[in-house]
Order: sequence, then structure tokens, then C-alpha cells
Amino acid sequence: MPDQTLATTHLPQSASQAMLRGAKGKCPRCEGAPLFRKFLKPVDRCRACGQDWTLHSADDFPPYVAILVTGHLMAPVMIEMGQTSLPLWAMIAIVASLAVAMMLGMLQPVKGAIIAMQWWMGLSGFAGASGKAEAAAGAPTG
Ligand SMILES: [Zn+2]
Repeated sequence: MPDQTLATTHLPQSASQAMLRGAKGKCPRCEGAPLFRKFLKPVDRCRACGQDWTLHSADDFPPYVAILVTGHLMAPVMIEMGQTSLPLWAMIAIVASLAVAMMLGMLQPVKGAIIAMQWWMGLSGFAGASGKAEAAAGAPTG
């Protein structure tokens, strides 16, 4: 159960604020503790506010978003590289390295933002205890 004494000033006031906190790897509810205990493994409960993060079900959505964004950003790079005289092996090495780096760099922030969005909107296990309702009430609903 989340900490009932959490000051409302620590609650995000919008979905984008909650998602930004999640993208930064911080608890979307209070921003007072890390959201992840491993690269892509969220903490069970926030150490600062007690929010239960096992209720999320981000599933395959973070990699889907990361692949979508990476593909759209890499397409113009690949088209431009096709105009150069680089050997094929060099183009493949550059494009593959960039794509892997972008994917790895994007996965955790995207997952944090998606968990925050689910919490804010009361989706999945957060049904009945959405961040939006909690912030609108002006006090933690528990
Ligand atoms: Zn927290």
C-alpha cells in the first residue's frame, strides 16, 4: 500500500510529468527513488512512497516502441549511406552498431514511461488506483 503521508506536491500533475519521471528511471508517483532495480526490472515497491510497481504489465510494448522509433530514425541514415562509396561491410557495421546502441539506450526510458502511463491512466493492475485520480483528489487514495 502506498504511503498515505506522501505530500500531494510530490504527485505528478499530468501524464507527461509522470511519464518523464518514469523515463528518467525515477518513481513516477513520488520521484524519490529509482523505478528499476536492474536494467529492465522494476522494483516491487517504491522505497520512498511504497507504490506497488508489480501491478504494471508493460510486456512487449517498450521494445515495440523502441523498434518503431529506431527504424524511423535509421531509415534516412541507411538511405544516405547508400549514396556513399562505403563498402557494404562498413555500412552494415555502422548501421547495426547504431541500431543496437539506440535500442539499448531507449529500452529502459521507454519502459519507465510506459509503466508511468499505465499507472497514471489506471490501466492493467492499477485499475481503481490511477495516478490521475489520486492527483485530482489532491491526496493519495492508497
Ligand atoms: Zn515513489
